Amino acid sequence: MEKEKAKMIIAIDGPAGAGKSTIARMVAKRLNILYIDTGAMYRAVTYLAIEKKFSFQNEMDKITKMAGESEILLKEADGKYLVFINGKNVTEEIRTPEVTKNISYIASNPDIREIMVKMQQKLGEKGGVILEGRDIQTVVFPNADYKIYLDASPEERADRRLKDFEKKGNKNVSFNDVLKSINERDHSDKNREAGPLKMAEDAIYLDTTKLSIEEVVEKILQIINKNEIS
Ligand code: C5P
Repeated sequence: MEKEKAKMIIAIDGPAGAGKSTIARMVAKRLNILYIDTGAMYRAVTYLAIEKKFSFQNEMDKITKMAGESEILLKEADGKYLVFINGKNVTEEIRTPEVTKNISYIASNPDIREIMVKMQQKLGEKGGVILEGRDIQTVVFPNADYKIYLDASPEERADRRLKDFEKKGNKNVSFNDVLKSINERDHSDKNREAGPLKMAEDAIYLDTTKLSIEEVVEKILQIINKNEIS
């Protein structure tokens, strides 16, 4: 069983706010496998493009070149998940509303997606890994051992995001603003041509609207344990 875990690839996809990061991290801890947040990679490229003052409208070729030459590092230290691009720790910077607002320019670009997908395949190829994102089960690892699609109603997801903002001390955001941003991101994630957010035909669908984080983690562990024993 340990050997199987060491090789297994778990692919988690779903829309913003479905709980993917928190849940994937907890599953990774419980199984003692590596956690890869692929959204953080798209965020890091978006951040760097903003920092270098590239125009998302006119300079996608330069941004693509920059992405191809960049080194993105995801690492865990003292229970924190850190994101580096070209040696700079951008863990906090990649979560700003400005990055979130502009990320669809990066995420919808097929050349940048190709670069990101290759990096992700390299990170996960040895197995013993859980990756979460939008196209993991359809593009990055279509042959993953477990494919799980996490979903929740847009209102529930907006409510969760609002609570996250409040926890971080940001009380100036309204429910309607967060809901609007979630709906916009859903629309662009599901409708882009390259690597759209979509459930694989053989994935397991989990609606987390009425479930606690612990309940979802338990469900995923049950799915994995059941398959290992049988
Ligand atoms: O998961 P997170 O919300 O941090 O992802 C940020 C954005 O990155 C998503 O809205 C999506 O547009 C993009 N993304 C993607 N493919 C992935 C992961 C994230 O297009 N595999």
